[in-house]
Amino acid sequence: MPADLHLHSYYSDGTFSPEEIARRAEAAGLDTIALTDHDTLLGCRETAEACRRRGIRFIPGSELTVEWDGWEVHVLGYFLDAGYEPLRMALARFQRVRQERLSGMVERINQCGVPLGLESIHASAQCRAPGRPHVARALVEEGFCASYDEAFDRFLRRDRPAWIPKCRISVEQTLELIHAAGGVAVMAHPGLNQIDAAIPVLREMGLDGLECYHSRHRPAQVTHYLALAKENGLGVTGGSDCHGFSKKKPLIGSVAFPRHHFEHFLEAYRLRSAAASPAVPSIPKD
Ligand code: AMP
Ligand code: ZN
Ligand code: FE
Ligand code: FE
Repeated sequence: MPADLHLHSYYSDGTFSPEEIARRAEAAGLDTIALTDHDTLLGCRETAEACRRRGIRFIPGSELTVEWDGWEVHVLGYFLDAGYEPLRMALARFQRVRQERLSGMVERINQCGVPLGLESIHASAQCRAPGRPHVARALVEEGFCASYDEAFDRFLRRDRPAWIPKCRISVEQTLELIHAAGGVAVMAHPGLNQIDAAIPVLREMGLDGLECYHSRHRPAQVTHYLALAKENGLGVTGGSDCHGFSKKKPLIGSVAFPRHHFEHFLEAYRLRSAAASPAVPSIPKD
């Protein structure tokens, strides 16, 4: 179990600091991790440093929300160059929309007769990319919901009263942006979206990999997506999607992800960066 390539910190909607992530990665015996906060690379420098001190290889990343045929798809960008200006501008825009969305969600929850205060969320969401998990945690902490899941079920899930879409850009634009920023693009948790039809289409547009291994994929889904990755010539990745404690335990390191897939993934990155682009990011070497 050498790698966990899908982790969130408190720079987006996770609860762990970079230091805590690196410490837990070490305890779990991981030799490589990626940080994939939503719409931000802010935690990457700190996480890289915390990993460097422990001899863990670190890959900078971010999870972006894109739109395909009216569906929401999450795309993980790895090895992104945080200094690439068009990427910085896009992330700033996504973050702005997330902040407005946070106020909108709270307003709608208030309209349902639940007097949740925006201040209590701001106190816990210091990050620039707040999301529904912040609202769910505040609803539980303030005693308005018995559990995190209840908060999603009553208010935050799609088609519930406080559901507001995020800023989404098209798949084409996103893949272009990731590649121009020196990155590799991977479709996150296809088993949660269940729009397999998107996979060959995104592949045509330049998608590099498929996150076949994920903490919420059942074994049959892993097998299914491994076959689809092979059929479509896509690389294979995996990660826990840890956001902190989930049902009292952290998911980090919980997803077994065979080494040879990881080597192929790195190879795809090397090929990309050899073929491209002025904006090749600096990553720690083996
Ligand atoms: P956002 O990016 O603000 O839309 O929030 C997405 C995050 O909310 C995901 O990364 C999950 O961690 C969490 N999430 C989404 N749907 C649910 C759900 N039904 N139950 C619990 N957590 C969820
Ligand atoms: Zn998240
Ligand atoms: Fe996701
Ligand atoms: Fe995620």
